Amino acid sequence: MSKQNITVLGAGVIGLTTALVLARSGKYNVTVVAKHMPGDYDIEYASPWAGANYLPVGKEGSPSAEYERNTWPELARLAKELPEAGVHFQDTVVYRRAKDADSPIGDWFRELLREDAWFSKVVPDFKILDKKDLPEGMDGGTSFTSVCINTAVYLPWLVSQGLKYGAVYKRGIVKHVTEAASFHHTGKKADLVVNCTGLSSLFLDGVKDENMYPARGQIVLVRNEPGVMASTSGTDDGDDEVVYIMQRAAGGGTVLGGCLQAGSWESQPDHGLAVRIMNRAVKLCPQLVPEGKGIEGLSIIRHGVGLRPMRKGGIRVEKESIKGTDGTAVKVVHSIGHGGYGYQTSYGCTQATVKLIEQALQEKAKL
Ligand code: FAD
Repeated sequence: MSKQNITVLGAGVIGLTTALVLARSGKYNVTVVAKHMPGDYDIEYASPWAGANYLPVGKEGSPSAEYERNTWPELARLAKELPEAGVHFQDTVVYRRAKDADSPIGDWFRELLREDAWFSKVVPDFKILDKKDLPEGMDGGTSFTSVCINTAVYLPWLVSQGLKYGAVYKRGIVKHVTEAASFHHTGKKADLVVNCTGLSSLFLDGVKDENMYPARGQIVLVRNEPGVMASTSGTDDGDDEVVYIMQRAAGGGTVLGGCLQAGSWESQPDHGLAVRIMNRAVKLCPQLVPEGKGIEGLSIIRHGVGLRPMRKGGIRVEKESIKGTDGTAVKVVHSIGHGGYGYQTSYGCTQATVKLIEQALQEKAKL
C-alpha cells in the first residue's frame, strides 16, 4: 500500500514527537512545517524554555493523567538507553505547605502534592517524606525518581531521529491551517494536517481556539548543580509564584523557576521576580551555591520567559474537517493546549493523536 502524506504544522515538542512517531511507523510521508525550529528562542515558541521534567499534574482518570502515565515508559527508556537524547534520571522532592491548598499553584499541583498520588506506582522510588526531613515552613512532601530533559539537546535529537526515518523539515508560516497541506515535500497536497501550533492556535485561521490562553513562566538558567530536583506548592511572594529547581542533563545547566501568570503575554524578564526566584531557590536548596554564599554564588547563563499554551477544558486531541480559503476541505487533527505539561504528556498524547489520524484517513478513504 502506498504511504499517505501528512504535514505536521509546528516544531515544538508536540509537533516533533508526533512527526517522529508517524515517520518511525513507516506508514506515512511526513513533512514538518514551522515558523520556529529547534535552536530558536522566541516568545511564540514555548518548548525551549521548559525545564523540562516529569511532575504529573493530570487529575486521576483524566485524559491528561492517561497521557502522563503513557509517557513515562518512553522517557525512562530514553534516560536508560539513549544518553544522546539528553534525558537523565534525577532524584526529586516535592514539598507542600497547607496554606497553598487553594492558591493557583496549589490547584495546579493538586495531584502532584498528594501522598496517595496515582503516579506513585508509575515512577520509581516514590516515598512520603518524614516530617523531620522537611525544610522549615513545609507541612509535607514526597520524593521519587523523575527525569530532567535538556531541551537544547532533546529538541534537535527529535529532529535528527525524524530525519533518520525520512521526515522532512521546512520553515514556513501559514495563515490558515489548511495551507499547511500545500507544504508537503512530495509536491502533492497532504492527505491530512496535524495542528501542533500551541498557543498560536488562538490566532490561526481555521482554528482560532478561544479556549487557549498563556500562562507566563519566568526562569533563570544557572551553571550551578544542586544534584536534586525540588519544587514547592507556593511561596509567600504572591500566589502565582512557585519554586522549582531542575538540573538538566549533559551540561544543560540548572533551571530555576518560576511563576504561573495566567493571561500575561509579557515577553521580557521582570528583574524583581528574577531576584525572588534566585533567593527562593538558594533558600530551599542551599547546596546550589558554595557554603556561606547567597545568590551572588549563582553563575547565571541567561534569564528567560516562556508562555505555557494553556487551554480551558484541557489538552485538545480532536479531528475535524476544515474548509480552506479555496473552498476544499482538509482533514485536520489537533494536538494543542499542553499547558505546563507538554513534555510529560508528549508520547501518551501522541498515541491518542495517531489513533485519530488513522481514523480520519480511513474515513477519507471511504469517501
Ligand atoms: P510550541 O513549543 O510553542 O511550538 C509551536 C510550534 O508551532 C512552533 O514551531 C511554532 O513556530 C509553530 N507555529 C505556530 N503558529 C504557526 C504558524 N502559523 N505557521 C507555522 N508555524 C507555526 N512541560 C513539561 O512537560 N515539563 C516541564 O518541566 C515544563 N516546564 C515548563 C517551564 C516553562 C517556563 C514553560 C514556559 C513551559 C514548561 N512546560 C513544561 C510546558 C511545555 O514547554 C509546553 O507544554 C510545550 O513546549 C508545548 O509545546 P508545543 O509543541 O505545543 O508548542
